[in-house]
Amino acid sequence: MKVLNADELLTVWEQGLNQSLLRRALILLAAAFPEISPDNLAQMSIGQRDGLLMQLRQCLFGQELLNTAVCPECNERIEWQNNLSDFLLTSDQIPPPQDTFELDAGGYQLRFRLPNSLDIAAVINSHQIQGGQLHQSQSASQKQQLLSRCLLQIEQQGSGCDFEELPDSVLQALTNQLEALDPQADIRLNLTCPECAHAWTVLFDIASF
Ligand SMILES: [Zn+2]
Repeated sequence: MKVLNADELLTVWEQGLNQSLLRRALILLAAAFPEISPDNLAQMSIGQRDGLLMQLRQCLFGQELLNTAVCPECNERIEWQNNLSDFLLTSDQIPPPQDTFELDAGGYQLRFRLPNSLDIAAVINSHQIQGGQLHQSQSASQKQQLLSRCLLQIEQQGSGCDFEELPDSVLQALTNQLEALDPQADIRLNLTCPECAHAWTVLFDIASF
């Protein structure tokens, strides 16, 4: 990793001005990790990409992150602090980027890879989604499109079949598997409102930092 100086940071900021959050994250990483090609950066899983963003953030601004959220029940604004090291997985917990995986679910044999920034960009309009994570608001069809892009092979009893044939239960099993394989892409925080005691979960998204 290259530690960016103020001039370099300003240049990156200018390049990213009219770009989506997803694109900005990649521009920033390309400047900070010149040893990794832009294609490889775009093809990293979201968790790997987020790991690099966290390393960069840590290097530029230190460990601490100030977070804010608004209670969905009473609209109380809450703030809390995290350390990046709470989220950053070690490299052996993160799968290598070009890996393909297999899943046997509901009588179907699936071969798949993890979603990357290119998939997210292709499927999702970047202003609908923050930084490229599987947000709850993401529509079912966008999620299906994403799964379909990541599926390399679908078989049932040795013969190939189409994505459209897969039942919801198999798609759900695949979604669970994607989340389990790329844990850093999907960091959830449990919050409790100090005002009304409502408890809920938020997604932590390093790209928006
Ligand atoms: Zn509340």
